[in-house]
Amino acid sequence: MKCPNGHGPMEIKSLKKVITFRGEKLLVEAVNYVCPVCGLELADSKLARRNQLVIADAYREKVGLLTSRKIVEGRKRLGLSQKELARRLGVGEASVKRWELGSIQTKAMDRLMRQLFEGKHPEVDVYTGNRAFSLPRIKLVLKWLSKRLGKNLLVKKPREKLLYAAKYLWYADMISYRERGVSMTGATYAALPYGPQLNNYRELINEIRSADEKKAEPLSPEEIRILEKIVRRFPTERSIFDAAHRELIWKEKKTGELIPYTDACRIAVI
Ligand SMILES: [Zn+2]
Repeated sequence: MKCPNGHGPMEIKSLKKVITFRGEKLLVEAVNYVCPVCGLELADSKLARRNQLVIADAYREKVGLLTSRKIVEGRKRLGLSQKELARRLGVGEASVKRWELGSIQTKAMDRLMRQLFEGKHPEVDVYTGNRAFSLPRIKLVLKWLSKRLGKNLLVKKPREKLLYAAKYLWYADMISYRERGVSMTGATYAALPYGPQLNNYRELINEIRSADEKKAEPLSPEEIRILEKIVRRFPTERSIFDAAHRELIWKEKKTGELIPYTDACRIAVI
């Protein structure tokens, strides 16, 4: 690589740096092209990826999460492929790939992977998606979606069932679980004749309406990315209604049967 300031070839150098990442000060060794004349530092895409992984691992080391290397080692010790590990954890294969390449796993997922690597059966909370149930969070997610869809999902019609809201919530929770190993709201879902619905929805609907979303943990950038994807995929109530009714993980259940989050990796339409 040549210096864009016209100083000729740059040299590959590794430099120790203190950076702040997710609020943590980290000492990392970055590898960059450095111009011996003007000191400019550049990274090509390969070095940029390498540096990102180094930062992600330094962060994970600092906050007590498994590093990429430890995830790969743990998986190989059990003789599992990425796909098999994903299946054991009930998440998508793409998530395992991303964690091994430097994406940072959630604490809930980290705990499950550790249990698995220690030879224990991972204690997935299959009906809450590894998160404490939160009415304010349900309200927060529904308000966010309503704003982006330009449609109030909390209105009383049709028939007091929050029919569409329940389907948007279901996809948000399921996709969040599939990609991060943790749901967004901790809600439990049952298969009803008109689609996936909040378990005990009759008791919950008024509580959701009166919940204070300001008490909820704010949405993370990852969660917002998932919600954006859901809004793009399902711009209308009709589109989400039709999609939910094509999902095998709903179709195959008996009426009233709970839909575990570990089914999320079989969501078909998004
Ligand atoms: Zn230069």
